[in-house]
Order: sequence, then C-alpha cells, then structure tokens
Amino acid sequence: MLNFFPGPSKIYPEVRTYLTDAYDEGIMDAPHRGEQFVQLSRAVVGSLKRRLNIPQDYSIFFTSSATECWEILIQSLTKKKSFHIYNGSFGEKWYEYAKKMRPEASGVRFDINEAIQVEGLNISSDTELICLIQNETSNGTQVTATTILNLHNRFRDTLTAVDATSSMAGLNLKYIKADIWFASVQKCFGLPPGLGILICSPRAIFRAKQINERNHYNSLVSLYEKMLNYQTVHTPNTLNIYLLKRMLEDRPFIKQLDIELTDRANELYEFFGQFTDFKLLIENEEVRSKTVVVLEANERLVEDIKKRALHHNIRLGNGYGPWQRNTFRIANFPAIGNEEYEELKRFFLHYYV
Ligand SMILES: *Cc1c(COP(=O)(O)O)cnc(C)c1O
Repeated sequence: MLNFFPGPSKIYPEVRTYLTDAYDEGIMDAPHRGEQFVQLSRAVVGSLKRRLNIPQDYSIFFTSSATECWEILIQSLTKKKSFHIYNGSFGEKWYEYAKKMRPEASGVRFDINEAIQVEGLNISSDTELICLIQNETSNGTQVTATTILNLHNRFRDTLTAVDATSSMAGLNLKYIKADIWFASVQKCFGLPPGLGILICSPRAIFRAKQINERNHYNSLVSLYEKMLNYQTVHTPNTLNIYLLKRMLEDRPFIKQLDIELTDRANELYEFFGQFTDFKLLIENEEVRSKTVVVLEANERLVEDIKKRALHHNIRLGNGYGPWQRNTFRIANFPAIGNEEYEELKRFFLHYYV
C-alpha cells in the first residue's frame, strides 16, 4: 500500500530493522532513570540539533504529542493571555484550548490565500505568547520564514510559539526566529505516533522560570529541571526516542532534505495544476505548503478518487475540518520515495486526464 496520508504517515522502511535492534539492545525495558536511557536521550538531543540546525543554546524536551505541547505552552508561559493567528483547523483547535485555560486569550483568523499581514496585527501589550502554525495540515498552507521574522521584529518583547508538526524534519526551519517550536514524529519524521518534540529558546526558559508554574506533571519548568539530566518527568516513549535516534543518524542533513522536498513540491503542484475536474485548494503560490498538497473537487468526485485510489493500493489523505468532504490531501514527506510519487501520477493520468 502506498500511503500519502499526512499523518500518521508512511514510516521509513528502516524502522523494521531499528525495531529489532531496539529489542536486541534491551532499550525497550531499560529504566528511564538509568544510564542507558540517559545516554540515548543525550545522543538524540545532539542529533536533533546537528541534523535539524537547531541552535545549540535551545532546549529540547520529549512530550507525548503536539497537542500536549499546545497545553504545556499555555499553562506554563501565559498567566493571562495568548494571541492566536490562524487560518485552519489545527490553529483554531489550539486557540479553543487556550480559551478554556485562559479565557482572555484572543486571536485572529486570516484568509487561506493570503499571508499573515504582520503590519495590520493588533496585539495588546499584555499578550504573553503569540501562537501560530507554520504548516497548517488541514488546508495545505504555510507561513514563510520571512513572515515569522517580521512577527518577531514587530513584537520583540512577546514570545512566539510555532507549531511545526507537519514540517519539522522535512524543511530547514529557521529556529532562531521564534522562541518555541514543536512537532509530533508521525509526520515528516517518518516514525510511528506517540512522541512530541518541544524546542525552547533560552528566553522561553527564562520566562518559564519567572512564571514558575508547577501545577501539571509536564509543566515546562519540571520538564526543564528533569532534562538537565536528559530525563523526563513521566516514563517516556523510549522506543520512539530510540527510533528517532536511528532515523536521524541515517538521514541526510536538513538542508539537503529541504531542497529535495521543495523540488518535489513544485513538481506536484505543476502536475496537479493541469487537471480540470479538481483544482489546487490554495491558489496563492506564496502560501502553499511544501509538505501537504490539498486538492479540491465536488464531494462525489473526492469520494470516487479516494475509492479508486484504494483499489490501486494508494491511500490518499482525507480532507480535514471544514475541508473534510470537498478535498483530499497528499503528503510530501521525506519517508515517501520519488518512485511512489511517479506511481501516484500514473494513477491520476490514467484515470483523470
Ligand atoms: C497532526 C498535527 C497536530 C496534532 O498532532 P498529535 O500528535 O495528534 O498531537 C497538531 N498540529 C498540527 C499542525 C498537526 O499537523
């Protein structure tokens, strides 16, 4: 089965070998306060920084998911309010959670075919955290590095948190331009679900210590204190941390992966742009995602395409949120091989030109 679902998405085939190795190395039942785990954890933090170009002075934490990171950040970095800039389902869900925890949280929705207008943003000075999604998986849009930099420059005193769940480990993100980044490993990392990666600048850690919120098992200060010894508060997903270590060691550096994914995204957009029965949901090239391609058609055709694809052992991604029925999605993730996209294109040429 070819799997183009944007999460859980295709895992690297090497995971099969890594799993056997994990068993043989006894990592799965290693105590999470023991030396073997600490060494593994330290190695992964080092590899993440080297392979993904994460600044040396940023801290890295293991969580259970990106969703958990939404919660940790609101709990531990806001006393009063965050501000959410969103155009799709994931950004909106984060905002909804934030409002439940901090009723004064506010936000603004922007159009899926427009970039965030940083100049026009009205964010009150008592806002503690600006939240956005780098790659909105629900509609296939992205926020560019330039926009993130402009945000950072215009609101210098406010921390910025970026959900990069469906782009981290695929794109060469400019971590220095925001204080907090996070992702889950079941997307561009090409690993099974159940592990989140949270990355914080020294400024974010400083702020967490100032607020010193300790009401939750994964409060950011508690995560920080445990991670000084490369440990977690709870018993972590050791197996997935191990898989992450092996995967990072075997992959090219992120600069190379980014070039390959960008080229492939351009090819996919060119290819899917030629059809008339369905069209690209995002018309503005500037804001199109490089890792999630979303195609729009009438509901019957969407159903039909997905069903026929399945008959050919091709799993396309369902639409998501308000775009659930009138779109389908195609992941452009590093674990999926070029030859698989050639097969996908053959399927579409055969059935729909
Ligand atoms: C998939 C996704 C999430 C949720 O990830 P979980 O591992 O289910 O918590 C959050 N944000 C974005 C942008 C996503 O694509």
